[in-house]
Amino acid sequence: MNTLLQDIYEEVKPMLGTGKVADYIPALASVNPHQFGIAVCDTKGEITSIGDAKVPFSIQSISKVFNLVLAINYYGEEMWERVGCEPSGLPFNSLVQLEYENGIPRNPFINAGALVVSDMVQSRFASPYIAMRDFVRRLSCNKNIVVNKVVAESEYEHRAKNAAMAYLMKSYGNFENEVEDVLRNYFHNCALEMNCEDLARATSFLANSGMSSCANGKILSPLQTKQVNALLATSGMYDEAGSFAFKVGLPGKSGVGGGIVAVVPRRFSICVFSPALNSVGNSQLGVAALTSLSERINWSIY
Ligand code: GLU
Repeated sequence: MNTLLQDIYEEVKPMLGTGKVADYIPALASVNPHQFGIAVCDTKGEITSIGDAKVPFSIQSISKVFNLVLAINYYGEEMWERVGCEPSGLPFNSLVQLEYENGIPRNPFINAGALVVSDMVQSRFASPYIAMRDFVRRLSCNKNIVVNKVVAESEYEHRAKNAAMAYLMKSYGNFENEVEDVLRNYFHNCALEMNCEDLARATSFLANSGMSSCANGKILSPLQTKQVNALLATSGMYDEAGSFAFKVGLPGKSGVGGGIVAVVPRRFSICVFSPALNSVGNSQLGVAALTSLSERINWSIY
């Protein structure tokens, strides 16, 4: 595994300098784009990593995966009445579809879906973002994971589009709590800072039928794990889900902080980090590294 990661790292590293860091908030716009790390975790929790795999970054939309898993634990099948499981085919923060479909978001990984899931979590916890922070700490065996408050506050100041989605869903009766409270918690989740090793560890249950290598126990049932992986495969990569399936062939979730997690069912969980993004908002080097990895050892699920 060491040699494999070394080869991929050397192959992809020359791309540093291409792509563009997210710039919708100052705290992300100032991130150094010349960073690149990879971590792979096997089902026993053994980590192999290279490059900037220990550098914490803003997990952003990757938090939607943990948010979803937390909600599934409390709501089970019932939650699929409030959020769908179809790819959206539209940008992650689109409002259009939401109106056509009566306030039921297409899937939990577009923003509207993640907001409904956050609303569900909000109904179950007095302090939802602390619950989430503790959940990722447990999943990654790292008690030092924290929320970057500057990022969370800045996201909140730029909340207009997310707020519009949440209020629209409220008008359709698909939102129980105060919109502003849910938004605050949602942005805290996006602003969690983790590194590649944390994230590879924290998603290892998705590669192991729901059993965590770290939290020492069952996080999801095998059926629920299959469902989450299917959603990741169809909707986890913004508008690039189709070509990511074509090139990489693994369930994956990206975030505008430059992280991508991917799952090789029954074998490995992977996290790649490099902050410069391609035109659809996925890490430029992240997609290249996962493509190379998939080509080299044919890990595609298809
Ligand atoms: N915090 C971002 C938002 O809700 C998420 C960005 C992402 O997709 O990673 O707009």
